[in-house]
Amino acid sequence: MSYNMLARRQQLMGPNVPTFYEDPVHIVRGQGVWLWDTEGRRYLDCYNNVPHVGHCHPKVVKAIAQQAAMLNTHTRYLHDGILDYIERLTVKFQHGLNQAIMVCTGSEANDIALRMAQAMTGKTGIIATDNTYHGNTTAVAQLSTRRPPIGGYPSHVRLVPAPDTVRPLGGSVQAQPQVFADNIAAAIAELEQAGHGFSGFMLCPTFANEGFPALLPGFLNPAVKVIRDAGGLILCDEVQPGFGRIGAAWWGHEWLGFSPDVVTVGKPMANGHPVAAVISRPDIMGAFRDAFGYFNTFGGNPVSCAAAMATLQVIEDEGLVENACDVGAYALDRLQAIQHPLKAEARGLGLFFGIEFVVDDGTPATDFTARVVEAMRHRGILLNRIGRHMNTLKMRPPMPFSRDNADMAINALEDVLKETRI
Ligand code: PMP
Repeated sequence: MSYNMLARRQQLMGPNVPTFYEDPVHIVRGQGVWLWDTEGRRYLDCYNNVPHVGHCHPKVVKAIAQQAAMLNTHTRYLHDGILDYIERLTVKFQHGLNQAIMVCTGSEANDIALRMAQAMTGKTGIIATDNTYHGNTTAVAQLSTRRPPIGGYPSHVRLVPAPDTVRPLGGSVQAQPQVFADNIAAAIAELEQAGHGFSGFMLCPTFANEGFPALLPGFLNPAVKVIRDAGGLILCDEVQPGFGRIGAAWWGHEWLGFSPDVVTVGKPMANGHPVAAVISRPDIMGAFRDAFGYFNTFGGNPVSCAAAMATLQVIEDEGLVENACDVGAYALDRLQAIQHPLKAEARGLGLFFGIEFVVDDGTPATDFTARVVEAMRHRGILLNRIGRHMNTLKMRPPMPFSRDNADMAINALEDVLKETRI
């Protein structure tokens, strides 16, 4: 990456578009799980969930090109593409979630989900976890806790401690589900007392941005009871775990075993084309319409739907959910076998992995983890970090990732761990 380009970026884009790595990668081409930079150097992509079925998948590229050559317009005309796609998508949901609103980003989808909870309950109080990210609109940014909002957190928002496996709530993995639920109950009581009432709880079912703790199915059951008893909605953000990423199921809520009222999906949905959706029940859709009304110029346009449909088709045709199960289990075994004095835990679900590092007294090994990420980048393996302390390596490759790809990444990781200063 030339430093001229960094300066130009800074000059033209300002500081609001951060880059990965001390020496950012200048990518010009992608195919499958591979990326190439300006000098022709090849990188193994172990991070990107957006090119879900592989970078530049020819069937998705063809679907986009064909539809773009035929028609693309806003969504107020009749078009089969959006109907065919929603029909195909909603078949994959249970619990009466059989209608969808198409939008362009996960942030928009979550913004709608928040308003659906308000529309159904007539209340505004909302709860999320205290180390999360649900997007960048004003409303969802208030739940996204990287920086406190100007003027502090609004009083209709309450944040409860996120689950963790290395430092579990209540001191043990067994105690954690009930403590998590108790904290939600306390937050609901505060919202009621403050006069906001409780509209819903927004969560990512794998708590991906929170650090991707290793939870057992059933973890959420006590919390679900508390939320339901209080009349709130469960808003499930599937932007990261959705579309089979976790291998064992198409959706995180299916795997964790709870029934959401609203589900949002995005990122991997159309392999890089900006498409997202809100899936819910007809009663909730109706209440939202009555309370707010909605129109989205680009959401669900013919090209977006063609891209999303082709992506769904490729996931099924190429058995990518099964692949996530198989390669995920293989890679997790290898990651768990790694011996390193700072390694606290390797966890994984399908093709999503977290490898957490702490020093002897349990202090997060944040700088060490950062050095590992940089060293891997110089070896041509792209991954990054997550979690409250950014001391967990995050691997979340495109879904066609093979056992050979996993071996290549993990062999490099073993070498880097040996070489990296503690
Ligand atoms: N929810 C989650 C869990 C996310 O990780 C993200 C993006 N990282 C979003 C929502 C926002 O999606 P988008 O960037 O498409 O607005």
